[in-house]
Amino acid sequence: MHRTWLTIDCDDIRHVPINQGHPTRSNSKTEGRKEQLSQQFRSGMLGFDKWMDAHQSPITLFIIADMFESKVFSEWIDSIITKFGNRITVGCHGLTHRSWSAWPEDISGFSTALTQASEIIQQNVGDNWRPWFRAPGGYIAPWMAKVIAETGFTVDTSINPSWLVKKKSGKGNNWNKVRQSIEESGVIEREWLNKWSLPVNGPALSMFPLSVLSKLAWRKIPQILSVKEALESPENPSFNITTVYWHILDHSRKNGNWRPPISKHILSLDN
Ligand SMILES: [Zn+2]
Repeated sequence: MHRTWLTIDCDDIRHVPINQGHPTRSNSKTEGRKEQLSQQFRSGMLGFDKWMDAHQSPITLFIIADMFESKVFSEWIDSIITKFGNRITVGCHGLTHRSWSAWPEDISGFSTALTQASEIIQQNVGDNWRPWFRAPGGYIAPWMAKVIAETGFTVDTSINPSWLVKKKSGKGNNWNKVRQSIEESGVIEREWLNKWSLPVNGPALSMFPLSVLSKLAWRKIPQILSVKEALESPENPSFNITTVYWHILDHSRKNGNWRPPISKHILSLDN
């Protein structure tokens, strides 16, 4: 069985590495207020709702816990869980959007952040919570694997196995070393889809020329997981999964009409 797992990261503009969480890329002066969502994010929420209404497939949202400081965000999460129910599962995308592997190793800091983030997200999403983790910005180093396992996560989906972003595996590391440490810690890794060892997810979807490659790659993805399968299969090692992702912010493109490049025949269109 080979299926596609649709995942969406809920970063606002204030979270991207240029604004927050990276030792050299971030300019803290532009960090926004936590309780306020950007206009683009709000329009992304509406675009997402509209897209969800147009099909029946399930998705997993990866949420940064500090998003819940916004009342509007919390209410929106409540509303989509009420409306879409089991079609939505929620994993953890950090307490903040700190790019952990770009900083010196900090086991206790990372452990505290993951514990707090899990609590906050779980409190807000209840039964839709899953102990699945995606590192902010895809910054994951081998030392992080043990912490991810010890804080109760069963799935990691942080590896973007492209040579282009090898630096994100931390100084002196590579994706093989990260892969190995995740495996040794007993966590299931769900790497992101690549094509020709190049990124085709997230920012690559709208960055020429990777955007062209992304469309080619996404045209060939397998059938989407059923709603029932999506509840458990990411943590089931016997399931062969292709993982793709984009951002809620993407849904604000094209006047709120942006869609991920998934062909209609593999999305479930009936009940
Ligand atoms: Zn992110």
